[in-house]
Amino acid sequence: MKVFVLASGSTANALVIEAAGERLLVDCGLGPRTLATRLRSFGIPPESVGGVAITHEHSDHVHGLKKACAKWRWPVLTSAGTHAALAELGVRGSTGGGARRIVLPHAQAVAHGAFEVMGVRIPHDAAEPMAMVVTCRSSGARVAVATDIGEVSGTVLRAFEKVDALVLESNHDMGMLVRGPYPPHLKQRIAARTGHLSNADCGAALATLAHRGLSHIVLAHLSEVNNTPEVAQASAGVALRKAGWRGKLAIAAPDGLASGFAVGSHADAERQLGLALEA
Ligand SMILES: [Zn+2]
Ligand SMILES: [Zn+2]
Repeated sequence: MKVFVLASGSTANALVIEAAGERLLVDCGLGPRTLATRLRSFGIPPESVGGVAITHEHSDHVHGLKKACAKWRWPVLTSAGTHAALAELGVRGSTGGGARRIVLPHAQAVAHGAFEVMGVRIPHDAAEPMAMVVTCRSSGARVAVATDIGEVSGTVLRAFEKVDALVLESNHDMGMLVRGPYPPHLKQRIAARTGHLSNADCGAALATLAHRGLSHIVLAHLSEVNNTPEVAQASAGVALRKAGWRGKLAIAAPDGLASGFAVGSHADAERQLGLALEA
């Protein structure tokens, strides 16, 4: 399995997961032209993408969705509530001649080509927002994606347990947010438990989720006003060092990560090692 982060932050979000020759997009905040350019820069023809999973209907996650679905006929996988919100935005179901709708129930994996896609309900100020856990059906490798998450609930921690790669929001430094230029109502909205995840809360979640088989962590959806890559990295680094974690930590820029990364299944690797030791 391979993961390519195409865009991340309050302007646009999109990443693509590749496995067994198939591709699944998670969020479509880029317009079709930029999206196609970003995909092709990684050698991925847009028409080879087999569907798009949507976390929620905020424009930085769906800005390009309507046009992309009309152009490439991608089915849309998301919660019933987000489908309804998207219909209001004009991204309609199959009867409207646009995108095919696939409803993701909370915490139940849905098979989609080479993937299993599981949406997990998260706290955020949208209709029915979800984190995504995407599993490669052939290798068993799993990647979890949660951006725009007010707090990492017990439900999310359980769903993300023992994943092989993790893309998690590290939105703001609380001190920078409090002292920063945003008006009070916006500061409150961001800091609320239905808002965005602070560096400290991200670090606490990472300390719980870090395990030996977790090969990659990507800090995502960084605020360009209330955070810096250095501050986010330092905060996560402290938490991960305490947890004794030794994987690869990357910080997603607004235009994503410069290269994709490969994710294997640690469970499969451990099983193989067990078989080798028994032999
Ligand atoms: Zn967002
Ligand atoms: Zn949002």
